[in-house]
Amino acid sequence: MSKDLFKQLPAIDKWLASEVGVALSAEFSSKEVAEVMNDHLSCIRKGLDNGLTTILPQFDSPQYEALMRADLLKQRLPSLRRTINATGIILHTNLGRAPLATEAIEAMEAVARGYSNLEIDLDSGKRGSRYQHVESLLCRITGAEAALVVNNCAAAVVLTLGTVAPGHDVVISRGELVEIGGSFRIPDVIAKSGARMVEVGTTNKTGIEDYATALTENTRVLLSVHPSNYRIIGFSSKPSVKELANLAHQNDLIFMQDLGSGALVGLGAVSAITDNTVQQSLAAGADILTFSGDKLLGGPQAGIILGRAELIQTIKKNPLLRALRIDKLSLAALVATLRLYLPPNNPTHKVPVLRMINEDRDSVGRRARRLLRQLKKIPGLEGVVVDGVSYGGGGALPMVELPTRVVHVKMPGMNAGELAKRLRATDPPVIVRVTNDELALDPRTIFPEDMKDLVGALRQAVE
Ligand SMILES: *Cc1c(COP(=O)(O)O)cnc(C)c1O
Repeated sequence: MSKDLFKQLPAIDKWLASEVGVALSAEFSSKEVAEVMNDHLSCIRKGLDNGLTTILPQFDSPQYEALMRADLLKQRLPSLRRTINATGIILHTNLGRAPLATEAIEAMEAVARGYSNLEIDLDSGKRGSRYQHVESLLCRITGAEAALVVNNCAAAVVLTLGTVAPGHDVVISRGELVEIGGSFRIPDVIAKSGARMVEVGTTNKTGIEDYATALTENTRVLLSVHPSNYRIIGFSSKPSVKELANLAHQNDLIFMQDLGSGALVGLGAVSAITDNTVQQSLAAGADILTFSGDKLLGGPQAGIILGRAELIQTIKKNPLLRALRIDKLSLAALVATLRLYLPPNNPTHKVPVLRMINEDRDSVGRRARRLLRQLKKIPGLEGVVVDGVSYGGGGALPMVELPTRVVHVKMPGMNAGELAKRLRATDPPVIVRVTNDELALDPRTIFPEDMKDLVGALRQAVE
């Protein structure tokens, strides 16, 4: 029986020459068609091997052609694409971090479509610097003496330490020897920069005197790193930024702070997420600061270095800068995002990340109820709106919780993991959190304009 079925499977070459094979090969490449056909055939053979007695498809029928076309189109979907974030985690490294403001997207488009004055000085017609477009803006907003921008914050730290520290000691608390996602480990970064790391204090407690007693002739930098992705709670303490800055300056040292998230505003709900703003760090005496463009700032991937003019000047001369430089599209988006921090703009309204952080629970709740009404029209799905928590970030970002309202969704007869998996397979894919065998959809990170696609995805997922 199954032996006969094996024999009825077409040879790929022959099938490619059939009417259906030829039609599909005109729309796609015959290599793609052959690959998908091969997948279909292996799948059928596997079934037959396992003793399944199936009815074979009509390989020359319009129905089979449609099935093939659907699979071929699926293969053609770009790998990187728009995704709906229903997790309520606002800055999610795996989901591309900060969504950009309209102004930033428009600025990127304008620069992408044609030529730009990226590195030309329009007054003199001579060669200019890409950094000039952003330096004065950053200084105006933060009060820093000088600024420089690179590819990301990791690059900013590597470049800064690699410029100021080689051959010298960098003093850092044992409570701050962190790994920031992936393989970016502070001790390794210090070692790579050619400096010697001097650890002081303990994991939970480090005092200013611990730093003071570690200073030698060879000390050059006091480094403070924001632990970002973890917290020490309970019996713990560390010196203030001001104490560290004072100690550094009394001893002619550089006080460097890697802020990671680096908030430019400390208003509203943002103040709960960040212990101090970039401006506060500078005012307290940080000589050099590094932070990301795509965390709390709400812009594109970028690494921002602020600080004393003579230090920034030296960093600019490091040949590594060329390898870590920011590209023109990110630069355009960064400038446009930073401009949203200038009056009369209110960044809390204009920068999507800040808007999401500041949306109050009742407002999210209204959107949750609206989503629930739509969801109830989908046969098989059950939902309810309940209290929940949104997160500032995951992974390399602050883990602060914000009260929210979420839609808990389940489908009797299907476990939540399976439903979540099906939602990831829709177009656009939807990413959700699963708690207690239910999906939690948090409208805080769902754009109003994505609601329709989300409901469509839920419909697709339960079909
Ligand atoms: C996130 C983070 C980094 C890395 O920033 P990227 O922009 O992702 O390179 C470095 N240091 C700290 C403290 C961070 O939080």
